[in-house]
Amino acid sequence: MGVKTYDAVIAGGGLIGGAIAWELARAGLRVAIYDRQEPGHEASWASAGIISPAPEHPGMIPLVPLGKASAGLYPRFIAQIEERSGQRTGYRAQGTLQALFAREAREELSTLVALHHGLGLACDPLHVEEAREMEPALSEELQAAALRPNEACVDNRLLTRAVLEAARRSGVEIFAGTGVEAVWQENGRCAGVITSAGKTAAGNTVIAAGCYSAGIGGAGSYAPVRPARGQMLALRSPALQIERVLWSERIYFVPREDGRVAAGATVEYAGFEKKLTPAGILSLLEAAMELAPAARDAEIVETWCGLRPDSPDHLPILGPTDVEGLLMATGHFRSGILLAPVTAQLVREWIVDQRVSLDVERLSPLRFRDAPNPAS
Ligand SMILES: Cc1cc2nc3c(=O)[nH]c(=O)nc-3n(C[C@H](O)[C@H](O)[C@H](O)COP(=O)(O)OP(=O)(O)OC[C@H]3O[C@@H](n4cnc5c(N)ncnc54)[C@H](O)[C@@H]3O)c2cc1C
Repeated sequence: MGVKTYDAVIAGGGLIGGAIAWELARAGLRVAIYDRQEPGHEASWASAGIISPAPEHPGMIPLVPLGKASAGLYPRFIAQIEERSGQRTGYRAQGTLQALFAREAREELSTLVALHHGLGLACDPLHVEEAREMEPALSEELQAAALRPNEACVDNRLLTRAVLEAARRSGVEIFAGTGVEAVWQENGRCAGVITSAGKTAAGNTVIAAGCYSAGIGGAGSYAPVRPARGQMLALRSPALQIERVLWSERIYFVPREDGRVAAGATVEYAGFEKKLTPAGILSLLEAAMELAPAARDAEIVETWCGLRPDSPDHLPILGPTDVEGLLMATGHFRSGILLAPVTAQLVREWIVDQRVSLDVERLSPLRFRDAPNPAS
């Protein structure tokens, strides 16, 4: 049998790889995804699905413009994916509500609002009573609150499944259970991938294997990612109904269509081991009961964890490398759901137009070339 040939081959069928494949197929390219297992069962499955461009710490400020661009693409992205796949995604554009419990909550609120406004992000202070009217599950201990009206959430499990289905229906071939072992380099350019089933030729190769990307031969120096474990749990109770994402300083709650509340998440550097720990779950349960006392008697319907693809500077790794035909799309760390639509758009622009409409030079895969690979 001859070598299969595509315009683009993608290593990894998470939300990032799936969204890129769908976007490229819509642009008329012949696309294949290779996933070493059933696609869509890693970080994109384990995620919380919050669509928030607000920086979680100062190091994430450079990502705000890209996050805003991607959040802006979301409504159309969802409409197109739902239409093409015939599946729902649980997208909710109801804003997110920040709850503050500290004694200095009022000062914290002013800082929070000023920080958001400084970055061009909407953030409106709420009266405590107003906040509890909007979200009656919130604790009476609430000291201050703010609404970020432009933020949203999505059921990431449904979305990932729908994106893969939309990709399939647009002609993308998906090879499950076929891992990419290495980038196939020939005559100084990337000729495709070497998989567990042999070679596949492609004009463009995109590495989107999440936190496993560095283990693919020839990708590690561009994508020195490492796993950041996140433990989560889901609660259900008639007394614990929420309309929108709630944040406290210690936890977030995300509403799901079936009435569950997803709560998370820890951030731990514990290698590739997916393990729930007493310390992790206890910290989530304590924080959950502080945010909403009804959590005390709720049913714990699920616990799980996943591995975020983190990069040395915690920023995504996006774009062409210095090997012709080889691109990276990984390192999305805590924002891969948020950034999926803009990542897909950028990769399409690089491949189809050879230039991009946003300034993402800072995210270039070339910035790590001389640094040691943590996966080796
Ligand atoms: C607990 C938790 C909460 C999160 N919350 C949020 C949130 O609220 N908002 C947000 O925006 N982001 C969030 N994230 C981050 C987000 O989920 C990730 O950034 C995103 O899912 C990464 O997508 P991905 O497609 O790159 O990786 P993944 O979903 O991990 O997919 C990678 C795929 O590559 C495959 N693969 C691995 N190795 C190979 C190989 N050698 N060959 C072929 N295929 C391979 C895997 O099987 C997998 O299917 C969260 C993550 C976690 C874990």
